[in-house]
Amino acid sequence: MATGPKKRPELMPLKLSCDQSDCEQGLHCFHESKKLAKQYGKKDRGSCQACGATLVDWERVQRRDSDDLAHTVNALKHESIRHHYWHTEIDQRAKNYAVRKGRDGLPHAVEKRLRSAVGTKHSRDGRQTPWTGSILYYAQHATACCCRKCIEYWHGIPQDQTLTDDQIGYFRDLCLHYIDERMPDLERAGRHVPGLRRTDKSD
Ligand SMILES: [Zn+2]
Ligand SMILES: [Zn+2]
Repeated sequence: MATGPKKRPELMPLKLSCDQSDCEQGLHCFHESKKLAKQYGKKDRGSCQACGATLVDWERVQRRDSDDLAHTVNALKHESIRHHYWHTEIDQRAKNYAVRKGRDGLPHAVEKRLRSAVGTKHSRDGRQTPWTGSILYYAQHATACCCRKCIEYWHGIPQDQTLTDDQIGYFRDLCLHYIDERMPDLERAGRHVPGLRRTDKSD
C-alpha cells in the first residue's frame, strides 16, 4: 500500500489525526495519550508529547480572554492538527455554507453548533466533528473546539462540565476569528448558493 505523500481526493486531503506531529517542521502535538507515551517516552504535561518542546503559555491561553485571541491563535498553530486547519484549502461545500449564512449569520450558527457538539459531553466524543464539509468544522478543529478532549487540554475545561454561556461565547469568538482570517472577503448578508452536484461527492 502506498503511504507516500500522494494526493488524495478532495474530501480526504490528508490522513488527519489529533496526535500527528512533524516536530522538525515546527508541528507538534500536545495531547497526552498512551500511544504517544509508548512511542516517544513519557513527556511532561503541556509539552510536545513527541519531542518535549515547551511552546505554549498554557496559563495565558486558558484565561480564555476574547481580547487575547491573537496570542491564543499563535499558540494553537504550534500543534500539527490545528496548523493544518489554519492553512489547508477550504472545500467548496464548506465555503458555500459560509456564503449562505453570510458573516452576519455566522455567530448564531457557530453558537448553535458549539452547543450541540461540545456543550455537554458527547457520547461519541472525538468523532462528533467531521473533517470537512462546513466552515464550522474547520473552525472547530483549528481552535480545538472540536471535542471535549481537545477543549480540556487546550482550554482547561474538564470534560464532564457543561459549558457556560461565557465559555460558549469565548469559543464562538475564537471560531469567528478563524473564519475572518480564512474568509476575509465574506459578505455580511447571506445569499443563495446552489447546491453542489451529488457526483462531486462534496454536496
Ligand atoms: Zn514536537
Ligand atoms: Zn477534538
